[in-house]
Amino acid sequence: ETKIYHSLRPTAPLPPHTTPFSVTDYVFSHLQLNASPSPNTAALIDATTRRRISFSDLARHVQTLAASLQNRLGLIKGDSAFVLSPNSLHIPILHFSLLSLGVVVSPSNPASTNSEISRQIHLCKPVVAFATSDTVAKIPSLRYGTVLLDSPEFESMMTCPIGEFRQVSVNQSDTATILYSSGTTGRVKGVELSHRNWISVLAGAVAVREVRSSPAVTLCTVPYFHVYGFGLFMRGLVMGHTVVTTVGRLNLTVVMKAIEEFRVTHVALAPPIAVAMAKGNDHSNENVMDGYDLSSLEVVACGGASLQRSVILKFRERFPNLQLAQAYGMTEVAGRVFATVGMKESRIVGATGKVMSNSQAKIVDPDTGIGLPPMMPGELWIRGPSNMKGYVGDAAATTEILDSDGWLRTGDLCYIDNEGFLFFVERIKELIKYKGYQVAPAELEYLLQSLPDVADVAVAPYPDEEVGQLPMAFVVRHNGSNIDESQIMDFVAKQVAPYKRIRRVMFVDMIPKNATGKVLRKELIKLASSNATSK
Ligand code: AMP
Repeated sequence: ETKIYHSLRPTAPLPPHTTPFSVTDYVFSHLQLNASPSPNTAALIDATTRRRISFSDLARHVQTLAASLQNRLGLIKGDSAFVLSPNSLHIPILHFSLLSLGVVVSPSNPASTNSEISRQIHLCKPVVAFATSDTVAKIPSLRYGTVLLDSPEFESMMTCPIGEFRQVSVNQSDTATILYSSGTTGRVKGVELSHRNWISVLAGAVAVREVRSSPAVTLCTVPYFHVYGFGLFMRGLVMGHTVVTTVGRLNLTVVMKAIEEFRVTHVALAPPIAVAMAKGNDHSNENVMDGYDLSSLEVVACGGASLQRSVILKFRERFPNLQLAQAYGMTEVAGRVFATVGMKESRIVGATGKVMSNSQAKIVDPDTGIGLPPMMPGELWIRGPSNMKGYVGDAAATTEILDSDGWLRTGDLCYIDNEGFLFFVERIKELIKYKGYQVAPAELEYLLQSLPDVADVAVAPYPDEEVGQLPMAFVVRHNGSNIDESQIMDFVAKQVAPYKRIRRVMFVDMIPKNATGKVLRKELIKLASSNATSK
């Protein structure tokens, strides 16, 4: 019989379904009732400018901005807003305000190209955009235009209300966000998450929060437009942590400086910085970490992609007293659904924790759909209140990933051990994770197929210790063509955000496919690896 893993975590009470409750309401009501940081404690800090916003100012700014958005722009429930900005203190305030109004928030990577943005805008249909002076040029014209987040005008919208704030009744089932993911196959899609989806992940985090005697300071180095960062600032704040944000280019030095200066207790990283910490240096500098006071640090959380075993072991050796927390998550389930809690769980090498409160999991034979017992690898399926509503405007893709019993097929090959710990084995879906960012092979293949020199092409993930996986193109040239590696790479680089660039190319005689025409990407990677070792 199929084993269904129910959460062994404490239950996380959710508001009754029918009570109108936005995720902003959840965060602020929980703060007042349970976390209750003192009003003057910093809620948000910009690690670069050192600007601080206290908890009482945060609540005030969120409401003032909401009033300005209602009265100045005329935003109403059900509208959607596109956000194109690097991390800044304005983003959490903006997100909470929009969410409190029932306006759908759709943040995108500021490095996206015009064509990537036009696809996203086509999906989320915004009436307004929020951008910065650096990103505004990429936004097309929208009904209410674009508001610049780094302008005095925005600052005044959040400090001097334009008119009265009118309370909006937001249903938990209303869409809160549209984030972008390619899911298990094909091109980028818009993931529709409801307020309830977000409330349930926050409640799951609250249920396992540690009892502390000293204040907690979370350093967020991950982007707010990705599910990891979007969830992280809300998770930090709902528990009354001070959330410090790195702004601008990230490297190990920036992270070390921020930990020392702000007495950081928890840091959230994507794998490349965790790898650099484990090694004690990043590319340019040796011994970057020497001399920093990291004594405040307790927990280093790394998610978005897996850390190699060797990296975990190196990290442990260097920082025996730090908790290296691991988690498994996905945009389609509003972030992390498995996570380690506490030092003991974090010590199990390779485990990404147990299923969080309110969620269920099972492991299924990907070919037959039959459930598998513990220790047997199969596809991870997830069910629970954080499962997305669906892909916006794409019923076919939605039914492909979500079945009629509410199970979401992750496209990841995993196993769960006898104690309920999840171990990630490999991706069966067509997805490359470069530094934790999603790169959809289909999107790059589609671009490359338009090159007259290319007869056939496949893009596959080439393993790399530091970035996880590199997008690699396998190209069959047309007879007579002598297009070279750099021409292939440049052609793609001009059209996609930097993290999606092709970083390796191999010319082949044919692309191996199975009987139904599916590209055998693993064979290609094997070929590339043996080629690399024989060189
Ligand atoms: P995203 O929606 O961008 O968060 O990507 C979700 C995908 O990231 C998952 O389906 C996994 O393939 C991968 N992923 C997330 N967490 C982990 C982890 N701890 N180990 C390995 N892969 C992971």
